Amino acid sequence: MYAPRRDAGFRSAPFGAGRCRVPPFSLSANENPYPPLPSVQELLHRESGRINRYPDRFVTELTGALSERFSVPAAHLAVGAGSVGVTAHLLHSVLGESGGEVVYAWPSFEAYPHLTRLYGGTAVEVPLRADHSHDLDAMARAVTDRTRLLIVCNPNNPTGTVVDHAELERFLDRLPGHVLVVLDEAYREFVRDARSVQDGIALYRDRPRLIVLRTFSKAYGLAGLRVGFAVCHEPIASRIRKSSVPFGVNSMAQSAAVASLGAEDELLARVEELVEERNRVQDGLRAAGLGVPVSQANFVWLPLGTDTEDFARACEAAGAHVRAFPGEGARVTIGEPEANDVVLGVAARFGGAGS
Ligand code: PMP
Repeated sequence: MYAPRRDAGFRSAPFGAGRCRVPPFSLSANENPYPPLPSVQELLHRESGRINRYPDRFVTELTGALSERFSVPAAHLAVGAGSVGVTAHLLHSVLGESGGEVVYAWPSFEAYPHLTRLYGGTAVEVPLRADHSHDLDAMARAVTDRTRLLIVCNPNNPTGTVVDHAELERFLDRLPGHVLVVLDEAYREFVRDARSVQDGIALYRDRPRLIVLRTFSKAYGLAGLRVGFAVCHEPIASRIRKSSVPFGVNSMAQSAAVASLGAEDELLARVEELVEERNRVQDGLRAAGLGVPVSQANFVWLPLGTDTEDFARACEAAGAHVRAFPGEGARVTIGEPEANDVVLGVAARFGGAGS
């Protein structure tokens, strides 16, 4: 039942994130509902007077700030236009001329199949377990001589589920030496489950083939500026940097990311409010009779099956745009309380569906 699917001939998943139409509440792209901090907005206003100049190609100040913040050598960092940008450069450098297989769970982040195919790789999708979490044993079994990269998304988009810390360590330690592993921690600031991997950066230090991906798009609220980074050992970080587009991280993004690191306390207080809202929404959905998996991210997964599109349409009519995966489920970003109330109101009519 949980056999991996190798690429040949199955549907090419369109990379469908982002907004199509914008009703009052946009809950489809896992964005932060808070506006940028006033201090960051003021800085951007000042910076806008300099955009006739190219940005720092080597992202020096931000790399230095990240190096200090995470206690990693600057040579272990590669910054890109969002963590999607970093993933693209990584896949480009790893797949090169000869291609190879990229193993990841499914459903997971849609950029993985998109970028794997874009750079000539073969996608190997390993179904999630029945509880919507990663099946690490099946992923290990899916590794072949042609596997170049394996991606673990923690928490997983779209299900919000997390990988057990000890299980991940055992998994990493038994993989063959030719496989690089990406730990995508786009949503790590929202994790509260003590059993989950909390901080991949602690794991990478004595694992030269582990690449940790982070982003400023979610907890830090800078999705529109496009800035993310990888933490990994020097040889891989250097390969990613060499595959990067020159001047790919714009000057506003670099400055705003540095300022956001300086305002982390304020930003993480907002994250705390979103975590509380997430818990309230999950409780509400369960009370409505929906079997939602425990989410550790800033979104929840409603496995509505054939009712998914009706649910998404009902949300839209009520004023909230959510993300439908037809026939599977809906992913709903945690937004402002009023937005979450709209979803809870609609969900009350779908209780028990698809479960
Ligand atoms: N990883 C995951 C798992 C995501 O869900 C997303 C965004 N939806 C990203 C990475 C992309 O982040 P960025 O905006 O930094 O490219």
